[in-house]
Amino acid sequence: MMKKAFDQAYIATLQSQPCKIKRSMLHLKNPTQPTKSGLWGDTFNAPWEGGDRVNGLFGLVQWKSGQNAPPFPSPEEVQKRVPSVSVDTEKLFSISPMAGICGTGYGGSNREVTDGLDEPNQKNQIQTTWMGHASFLVQCSGVNILTDPVWVDRASPVQFAGPKRYVQPPIEIEDLPQIHIVTISHNHYDHLCASTVTRLHKAFDPVFVVPLGMKSRWFVPNFGSKWSKNSMAKVVELNWWEEVPCKFTIKTPSEHTLSSCVTITSTPVQHWTTRTSFDRNKELWCGFVYCFESNANYGTDSGTELLPPRLAYHAGDTAYCPMFLETAEEFFGGPLTSGGSSDEESRCRFDLAMIPIGAYDPRWFLQVQHVDPKEAVQVHLDLRRPRLSVGMHWGTWILTDEPIDEPPLLLKAEAQKAGLEEGEFVVLKHGESVAI
Ligand SMILES: [Zn+2]
Repeated sequence: MMKKAFDQAYIATLQSQPCKIKRSMLHLKNPTQPTKSGLWGDTFNAPWEGGDRVNGLFGLVQWKSGQNAPPFPSPEEVQKRVPSVSVDTEKLFSISPMAGICGTGYGGSNREVTDGLDEPNQKNQIQTTWMGHASFLVQCSGVNILTDPVWVDRASPVQFAGPKRYVQPPIEIEDLPQIHIVTISHNHYDHLCASTVTRLHKAFDPVFVVPLGMKSRWFVPNFGSKWSKNSMAKVVELNWWEEVPCKFTIKTPSEHTLSSCVTITSTPVQHWTTRTSFDRNKELWCGFVYCFESNANYGTDSGTELLPPRLAYHAGDTAYCPMFLETAEEFFGGPLTSGGSSDEESRCRFDLAMIPIGAYDPRWFLQVQHVDPKEAVQVHLDLRRPRLSVGMHWGTWILTDEPIDEPPLLLKAEAQKAGLEEGEFVVLKHGESVAI
């Protein structure tokens, strides 16, 4: 297993005490790695069959010249078609069992809280809150992770043109609880945003976990560009199947100690990258697995309790490909045989998966880079049926031709057809939280 060495500076920030928990989940045998091509050997490729299919400029022109973009809807129409709710900040600051931990010593909050460790059914819950598109706040074991954050109006190199947001971010960055880690799946404008990175860096100084190539291109002094402000950020680059453990020791309000370790693994998916006309696939793209492990120390008399580990998955941006089966194989060592009903199989599942369901039409052009709802359900099945999957990558920007509210409708139909249980693969409103 490849482990990324953590810089001393990061250790000082994150690891006040070594994490004692040993991971034994991965079954890595022959993990898929990206290949390199191009004159300078600096272009990433996905090596599986069909993984390197790309859309040419000709196809893009053909699609866009035939497209009749719908007019931008009124705010009432948006609320009707893509509902949003204001974020329940109480939930964000008080997720059990570490209720209050996120607000104690990290966020500067003075909330009255309990640590919730006495509630056995609530132990080590994962909570996720949809911030729009591919962005979620994922909270577990006292650790707060933000995925693919984009807090601007347009998913575009400039803010006067390009796809405009239908729904505003449900909360301001500065109002979030302390963000410890930010993961970014790839460099497209709807997933990576310079000014959002700067705001997060300034507000929380989190660790950014990014795919190979992104650090050296976007987190370095850059001739006075807006990215220069982020050159001091803590950044860890991962190749597919590399992992980085981030360790925390947290004191709860009732003087219990929680030692937590979230190990983030970069996993292969089928996509591509570009930010300018000249950098196609010069950076890698990926999904992420987050493994949360923690033990609670109740003081000298009561001893230490290992809390159940929790696993979450974020698919980034992806077409359908064999890598979801490989991811399940590597983490759980084989296909589901009892449909998830046996004890062992119900333990060996992702607790939470965030899977794209939108930006799929027209299929002849987008099939090589985005799943549609039917394929998203197949991804859920390939991943061995996570206990809860949440649809993402829809309803925030109009990037493609399908009606903005179509993805959840198709998802519901496809989930039924595939025999999924009610509530197994859901969508959230912008700003809505769900805990499992
Ligand atoms: Zn993308």
